[in-house]
Amino acid sequence: MKKVVIDAERCKGCELCVKYCPKQCLSIADATNSKGYLPAFLAREDDCISCGICGRMCPDSAIEVFKP
Ligand code: SF4
Ligand code: SF4
Repeated sequence: MKKVVIDAERCKGCELCVKYCPKQCLSIADATNSKGYLPAFLAREDDCISCGICGRMCPDSAIEVFKP
């Protein structure tokens, strides 16, 4: 099961989640979503500790975090 699911269509590419992830798991994609934003994605899933910080930071509620 995925630890973090990011709804790319809700994401506005603000990078808050990328900056606040304590394990540097998230990155910004190089392709835009349908609204023209570059969405965040979970680039390094193995390093993710499911802490939930990214989900709490996201102003657009685009991130869902699942505990193992
Ligand atoms: S759950 Fe925590 S470790 Fe995993 S991507 Fe989000 S902020 Fe990073
Ligand atoms: S905090 Fe939310 S809106 Fe901002 S880049 Fe991350 S997923 Fe996208």
